[in-house]
Amino acid sequence: MKAIRVHQFGGPEVLQWEDVPDPKPDVKEILVRIHAAGVNPVDTYIRSGTYAHKPTLPYTPGSDGAGVIDAVGEHVTAWKPGDRVYVAGSLTGTYAEQGLCREDQVHRLPEAASFAQGASLGVPYATACRAMFYITRALPAEIMLVHGASGGVGTAAVQLGRAAGLTVIGTASTDRGRQLVKENGAQFVLDHSRPDYLKELMSLTEGHGVDLILEMLANKNLAADLTVLARKGRVVVVGSRGSIEINPRDAMGKDASIHGMTLFNVTGEELRGIHAALAAGLENGSLRPVIGQQIPMAETARAHQAVLEPGAYGKIVLLS
Ligand code: NAP
Repeated sequence: MKAIRVHQFGGPEVLQWEDVPDPKPDVKEILVRIHAAGVNPVDTYIRSGTYAHKPTLPYTPGSDGAGVIDAVGEHVTAWKPGDRVYVAGSLTGTYAEQGLCREDQVHRLPEAASFAQGASLGVPYATACRAMFYITRALPAEIMLVHGASGGVGTAAVQLGRAAGLTVIGTASTDRGRQLVKENGAQFVLDHSRPDYLKELMSLTEGHGVDLILEMLANKNLAADLTVLARKGRVVVVGSRGSIEINPRDAMGKDASIHGMTLFNVTGEELRGIHAALAAGLENGSLRPVIGQQIPMAETARAHQAVLEPGAYGKIVLLS
């Protein structure tokens, strides 16, 4: 089979489309024919060698994907060849024509969802779900700012928030991105590239501020976030690409809290809850991953450039 291989850390050019031996499932493993793989910003950090988690070289990138089961190990009873699945994590990497998974990394993909949509679930939807419901305990009727609502995690957060009865304010920097945030159900949409947009937020909320912020670029926004939180408000730092100075008094005066979160810390119990919630949302139509770009897997280098460019629009997926 073919797979993307990384032999040395570096720029997108280190992503090589190569022939590799066909994988075979061990007794408890599942072999998935991957039709689509999700591209996440973290895949680019890992590829560059600057991230805390460094795989042993050479490796095949990617944790998200969707396809059809090709074969199962002899101790696997819950799955059979032909089942449509999405994968959230894999033993061998998802930027490949086939990938080996553990049973707990494989989830049923309803007929109504495309493979590209299935490949958009693992990291983005699980991150949004964990940040909102496990880390900051979002409640119905609360007001949530999705600070960066046009990309993979933001799109998921807007849909999850609306389904759970929150009032959702989403931001994006382009007209196209803001249109997407609106179509996803956000009641209010703001432009984070404008100087006065947080003033607009305070007037939209009649001075109350927001109860919850899902922050996609904390190194830019965390200081300002603390000024628009309501009393007992919470910020969860989902994304950050640098450092920032904050005024702790902006949090003190409101009994506010700042939470960090990385999906690498998710527990098995949390994952069971998260994927049960995603299954329900896919079935009832409240969760509808949006695909912005589909790129052939052989051209993964292009996808790794695109995922870091401004003007996000849903997910970028690779097709094998
Ligand atoms: P993505 O699809 O590339 O989306 C990036 C989002 O950030 C877009 O909505 C973009 O909006 C927005 N953004 C850009 N500049 C911004 C600003 N100044 N203020 C607010 N938002 C801004 O990426 P993603 O997959 O959604 O991931 C978002 C971030 O979370 C990334 O940094 C990623 O590494 C991180 N992440 C962390 C975890 C975790 O476990 N903690 C998991 C997944 C992702 P425009 O393009 O419209 O400007």
